[in-house]
Amino acid sequence: MFDTLQERLGSIFEGLTKRGALSEKDVSEAMREVRRALLEADVALPVARDFIKKVTERAVGQEVLRSVTPGQQVIKIVHDEMVAMLAGGGEEGAPAPSSDDAADDAAGIDLAAVAPVPVMMVGLQGSGKTTSTAKVAIRLRDKAKRKVLMASLDVRRPAAQEQLKVLGEQAGIDTLPIVAGQDPVAIARRAMEAGRLGGYDVVMLDTAGRLAVDEALMAEMAEIKSAANPHEILLVADSLTGQDAVNTADLFNKRVGLTGIVLTRADGDGRGGAALSMRAVTGKPIKLLGTGEKLDEMEVFRAERVAGRILG
Ligand code: GDP
Repeated sequence: MFDTLQERLGSIFEGLTKRGALSEKDVSEAMREVRRALLEADVALPVARDFIKKVTERAVGQEVLRSVTPGQQVIKIVHDEMVAMLAGGGEEGAPAPSSDDAADDAAGIDLAAVAPVPVMMVGLQGSGKTTSTAKVAIRLRDKAKRKVLMASLDVRRPAAQEQLKVLGEQAGIDTLPIVAGQDPVAIARRAMEAGRLGGYDVVMLDTAGRLAVDEALMAEMAEIKSAANPHEILLVADSLTGQDAVNTADLFNKRVGLTGIVLTRADGDGRGGAALSMRAVTGKPIKLLGTGEKLDEMEVFRAERVAGRILG
């Protein structure tokens, strides 16, 4: 097994028991270990570099306190900085929920708009988009007490609309009746109309994916966006795809504009580095984590927990 970062830093600082301030040399040796831990956790290189720079600036010159070892002190700075970066803050950051309950009630989704609130789900094929659409709908119903309608706008994959319908039946969430031959924009309009007429609070639009980001996909997303005027545009991304997920997030954000990210397969072997990279590259909050195939396996994203996983 790898030593934990905590242990590695502990041994680096072992000799440094004198009091005084942390020198650049003390810190830079420790930062090599931090960098290694970040890269092992699949954090993108430029993001890791930025992170190290910030932590170094904060750590150098800090007085070594009598009460804690220098190693612990640097660990705390690394941890705090990681949580701050994952949680965001600043104008793009998600408002910090006042409590776990508040976060759960809102299910991580911003619903402060005129009903029916359109929520658009975007992402690559296989990222877990349709599953996540149903999971979010269930959370909105059960935790936020909202009446939700789901609609599949995926006319590319023949079985896609049927898949969402089946999930809706399993979960007891209404889906927009399938009409053959309609294009995605027409379906989006019909979904919003059905949402209004049916007294729904939220309309979830599950869009088509592709194997990779291409111009046709981006154009389709932009068209749906202008037709439905979504209040949330959530990118569903597979946390195990590492750098690809980061590039995808960057492209979708630049072209379509995201309001948040749903990271799936958080139950897998990944160490969570993609979360830090996506947050840093897009500036958009990670809102929810998919933690399994079952429809109740979704959690509100918590920076503390993911920071712990990245740092090992
Ligand atoms: P889409 O093509 O993006 O709509 O992807 P799907 O929703 O069809 O999901 C593809 C596969 O990933 C399915 O087998 C899902 O059960 C699975 N899946 C989705 N989210 C998660 C997750 O968070 N964890 C795990 N382990 N599997 C997931």
